[in-house]
Amino acid sequence: MTKALYMEDCYLKEFEAKVTSAEGVYIELDETAFYPESGGQPTDLGTIEKDNIVYNIVKVRKDKGRIVHEVDKEGLQKGYQVTGKLDWERRYILMRYHTGSHVLSTVIHNRTGAEITGNQIYIDRARDDFNLPDFDREQMEGYVKEANEILAKNLTVTLKMLPREVAFQIPSLVKLKMMLPESIKIIRVVDIDGFDQQACAGTHVKNTSEIGKIVVTEMKNKGAGNRRVYWRLEGAGFRV
Ligand SMILES: [Zn+2]
Repeated sequence: MTKALYMEDCYLKEFEAKVTSAEGVYIELDETAFYPESGGQPTDLGTIEKDNIVYNIVKVRKDKGRIVHEVDKEGLQKGYQVTGKLDWERRYILMRYHTGSHVLSTVIHNRTGAEITGNQIYIDRARDDFNLPDFDREQMEGYVKEANEILAKNLTVTLKMLPREVAFQIPSLVKLKMMLPESIKIIRVVDIDGFDQQACAGTHVKNTSEIGKIVVTEMKNKGAGNRRVYWRLEGAGFRV
């Protein structure tokens, strides 16, 4: 099993690892900081380097619990010691969008009781789907205003690895109990200080001040009770 370094440190930009499997352009490592496409968050990009030869990452995906890196050419072999380097600019934007999405969806859930039925983040926008019978632009602007007030509070975001029994004591996580297989003993909880706790394996910023401001760009009805909101971020500084 590959150790997923991003579970504990979302700011790791470079790492050393050993190739544990190489089938053509499909590479597995003993540990990796590259996030595999999942849960509405796109794949990380970047490079794997060996002896000054640079292999560009095309896609990272999960396959039956394994993390598989697809690179742009063959040549990496089992046993090689390699250096992984993230396309950090891309990853950091995705982190800002992901934490921003938690804040917006939690405000909407708290105000309306709506459940999140889908979400997707991109490097320049995001969308969230909710099961909500009614909503209009004005209500939505109110939720966004509230979400932006939360972001402006500079709340600390921490990642906690909690035993299953402990995680399910948290009220906002109870509904997950039926969905997560018993085999998952440790649950990663993303805790936005005093505001929200969610089980999530994605990558997140350390403080809401890094995110910027949410701006709604489009709202759509996607059938009975299903609402879709598109938004983007404005005006956050880039953290070095
Ligand atoms: Zn998440």
